[in-house]
Amino acid sequence: MQLENGKYLLSGGVDPLELGKKYQLPLYIYDSAVMKRQYDRMMNAFDVPKIKVNYACKALSNINVMSLFKEFGAGLDTVSVQEVELGLKAGFHPRDIIYTPNCVSLEEIEEAVALGVRINIDNTSILEQFGQVHPDIPVCIRINPHIMAGGNTKISVGHIDSKFGISFHQMPLVHRIVEATGLKVEGLHMHTGSGILDADVFLSGAEILLNIATEFHDLDYLDFGSGFKVPYKEGDVETNIEELGKKISKRFRHFCKEYGKDLTLIFEPGKFLVSEAGYFLAKVNVIKQTTSMVFAGIDSGLNHLIRPMFYDAYHEISNISNPEGKKRFYTVVGYICETDTFGVNRKIAEIHEGDVLCLHNAGAYCFTMSSNYNSRFRPAEVLVYEGKDYLIRKRETMEDLLKNQVELPVFQKVESAR
Ligand SMILES: *Cc1c(COP(=O)(O)O)cnc(C)c1O
Repeated sequence: MQLENGKYLLSGGVDPLELGKKYQLPLYIYDSAVMKRQYDRMMNAFDVPKIKVNYACKALSNINVMSLFKEFGAGLDTVSVQEVELGLKAGFHPRDIIYTPNCVSLEEIEEAVALGVRINIDNTSILEQFGQVHPDIPVCIRINPHIMAGGNTKISVGHIDSKFGISFHQMPLVHRIVEATGLKVEGLHMHTGSGILDADVFLSGAEILLNIATEFHDLDYLDFGSGFKVPYKEGDVETNIEELGKKISKRFRHFCKEYGKDLTLIFEPGKFLVSEAGYFLAKVNVIKQTTSMVFAGIDSGLNHLIRPMFYDAYHEISNISNPEGKKRFYTVVGYICETDTFGVNRKIAEIHEGDVLCLHNAGAYCFTMSSNYNSRFRPAEVLVYEGKDYLIRKRETMEDLLKNQVELPVFQKVESAR
């Protein structure tokens, strides 16, 4: 979103305030031009014979967003069989979908096999069971290189006691299972968590994976996962994807030469592709002055955007109704009957009741983590595509809240007696 002539505008000159009026608030808006820019950056950063970017759709799983990435030429990274089904509905070819679950049942993996997608196995127990029933289905193996990444333990998945992946110390066991079952290993995978700052940290993980790769002779691809960091506020460091691309590409080309085959280099970013493309708009209900601060209470809460409360995530907040107003300090809070603070003592252009606030970086892990807590409806989602706006999810209604609730006759009697 750019500030132009005193107005915040999306790509193609689309006015977010107009979208707020048209679709009502609170509202999620996604700017597809930003997604395209990030996808192109990723593709251009790597100079290897075969590169594939799989969009990690748990970040934002609206099927239109998935279809958009399909149009760009991306594959899909999924973590549940339901995401697989959404991906197929969005038009992805099964072979362009990789299924990377954690701690799911063999039955769920079987469902994914039946749908024809690529299977990534992340523990030796399932690997052994799977190999016995499906020695003919090629698999990818998720390795944990124990690289620490991310500022928050909730999103760091590479540490030694992490539940994700097979420890690289257990490779002898993996080889024994592969030999005993006759499994074909077509790929190796690592994903060390969200928020990697440093290209060199990433490279040391990659180095471990490349070393392990030399022990497998039938590989088609190596998947280096994701965890790329994007800026959430001014001055934030972001993953230097261009620098990382140069370093990894050089190393990867060298590896392929030694391996004797051009493997596909895969990445599976979620946040990097969609975070900055998303905006969450909500109206200010109340301005409330206490002894020590000024609260701006918005018509939303942790039910719609939980990252600040769940991860202490920082989301930039702007008053798009008064872009050039004098800056003052506000603590922005939600309406949920629980502490739901979006930001403390933020410098924001003067806020009046009825103004529309915009939370930035609302593309990744925002709508997908929303809930009906306090029996509130989930908001609508709008996609801005080639200068036009499209409703891609309707706002919920009372019907949605009641849809799967079963009203017991015994209680209905009480009501009719009233
Ligand atoms: C969540 C996830 C991703 C995406 O992570 P980001 O930090 O959003 O880029 C990639 N791969 C796997 C296996 C994941 O679980």
